[in-house]
Order: sequence, then C-alpha cells, then structure tokens
Amino acid sequence: MKSDHIRIGNTDTGEHAFICTHCGDIYVPSLPCSVDMFLTMSRQFGKEHRKCAKPASGALDAVGLLYKAGLRQLSVSEIVGDASR
Ligand SMILES: [Zn+2]
Repeated sequence: MKSDHIRIGNTDTGEHAFICTHCGDIYVPSLPCSVDMFLTMSRQFGKEHRKCAKPASGALDAVGLLYKAGLRQLSVSEIVGDASR
C-alpha cells in the first residue's frame, strides 16, 4: 500500500522533514546521518503514520504544516517509499 499522504520536505536550512498530511505530524531527523539511517527513519515514519485517518476536510497542506513548524521549505517532493515493506 502506498502511503501518499507521507511526504518529505526539503528546508532552506538543508534539513529534511517527514510530514504526515493526515495527522499533521512532522519529524525532522538530525543530520548529518548515513543514507541508511535516513531511509530507516523515513520507513519508520511511514510505518507509524500509514494508518492515520484522513481528516474529513481532506489531507492537510504539507507546505502549510512546515511553515507552522517554523520550517521554511524549499520543496515538498517525494513520497516516502512503500511503507508496507
Ligand atoms: Zn500521521
């Protein structure tokens, strides 16, 4: 099952943020870390959030969530890979 409500944002400070557009949770891993570590964290985030219910009003805006968390975003791009792995 693809969890397309889970996104990765790139911030202007060079950080990355995992975003759940269903419950509004954001996780910013501390960098630098290895690519493996980053992937592990992104998978774990995906696992913990893949069952989040979509709000009745629809998915939240990932960019708006980043701004609310005080993160200036450059882009909200890719979806965290298939979280069911
Ligand atoms: Zn969530």
